[in-house]
Amino acid sequence: VDNLSRTERSKQMSLVRSKNTKPEILVRELVLNLGYRCQLHRTDLPGCPDMVFPRLKRIIFVHGCFWHAHGCRLARMPKSRRAYWKNKIERNGSRDLRTLRRLRGMRWRCLVIWECQLSNPEAVSTKIKMFLRSSGALNGKVRREGP
Ligand SMILES: [Zn+2]
Repeated sequence: VDNLSRTERSKQMSLVRSKNTKPEILVRELVLNLGYRCQLHRTDLPGCPDMVFPRLKRIIFVHGCFWHAHGCRLARMPKSRRAYWKNKIERNGSRDLRTLRRLRGMRWRCLVIWECQLSNPEAVSTKIKMFLRSSGALNGKVRREGP
């Protein structure tokens, strides 16, 4: 896995980081199949959320496990330049938390879907369905699902 050169590695990382990733497209399909419409990548909101449901006041993020520091098996650190990546990824993680906190302060409800959860698309679909259906039950809490 780790025989990539530095440039290849950073190229790969910038791809992972970009929008319209494979996990994101998959989640978008699930949302569409549930009959919901959403706005994509609203730059006027903190964190430029992947999917915004303005009428429902809800937001879905799709996080790549490595890049967003999920800590699951998909999030394993590269063997080379460990400190560099660890630092970078940890910064991403705390930035994510700040983003969620800010959105919550603006009365948005947020759901984070992790890349590794997509090995079971049906479960993710159910999760999204519950999230978009639920009314006041969440009480403004941020849902951050573990592995
Ligand atoms: Zn994960």
